[in-house]
Amino acid sequence: MMKTNTVKISSGLEIGKDFVVMAGPCSIESTDQFQETADFIKSKGAQILRGGMFKLRTDPESFQGLGQEAYSIAKEIKSSTNLPFISEVTDPRQISDFHDIVDVFQVGSRNMHNYALLKELGGAGKPVLLKRGFAGLIKEWLLSAEYVVKSGNEKVILCERGIRTFETATRNTFDINAIAFAKKHSPFPVIADPSHGTGATDLVVPVALAAAVAGADGLMVEVHPNPEQALSDGYQALDFSQFEELMTRLPTVLQAIDKALAPS
Ligand code: PEP
Ligand code: MN
Repeated sequence: MMKTNTVKISSGLEIGKDFVVMAGPCSIESTDQFQETADFIKSKGAQILRGGMFKLRTDPESFQGLGQEAYSIAKEIKSSTNLPFISEVTDPRQISDFHDIVDVFQVGSRNMHNYALLKELGGAGKPVLLKRGFAGLIKEWLLSAEYVVKSGNEKVILCERGIRTFETATRNTFDINAIAFAKKHSPFPVIADPSHGTGATDLVVPVALAAAVAGADGLMVEVHPNPEQALSDGYQALDFSQFEELMTRLPTVLQAIDKALAPS
């Protein structure tokens, strides 16, 4: 097993040390929706808040995120909850705006091969969570991480979020091998995203627990106060009681592998 780098984020939290949970809605939809979700995930022990502002959607008619309108909402909720915030940067031109808002830049699955974006994030001075492309080889994913490092930023966190396979029963196939492989053969902390990895709410908790046992350094999960009304990815979002179930079961599983949840 290669030694894992720890990646320190601005709050002082070190990813790659104790187990972390990043949670929040797929998209920031309104101040109320984001505040309610942030307060809840914090109360259950999550350490990092997620929320998409710019969304890369397959259908151009689908909700594309609030875009710049989300900036003030994100700042407000970030300061009221005092939680570090991660959001996806979809275009190098957003990087300067994101500087005052995010603690971690997320690179989405669709941009794993966007080398211009990766190189620009090499100069961003903040951690980068690099999702695996849904058709990306593990080898290509690790080379994409090297683009960020080579451009000047060693603070890279990997995120397995499922790949496209011949299987159609689930949106993606969560690749548990990738978690174990990346932990063995790369120096980066590895986060598991069982929400996109399964695309099905009722599969998120079991796959999340399996990823923890396979060696993940943390989770990224989508949570929504009312998944049926979500503007994106509602079919894979946990509602509050399902998130609570995850946070109740997680410590027992972590204890069995001599790990612990990071303090919130
Ligand atoms: C997301 O995190 O909401 C997202 C769009 O993820 P991915 O890039 O893995 O599809
Ligand atoms: Mn999503």
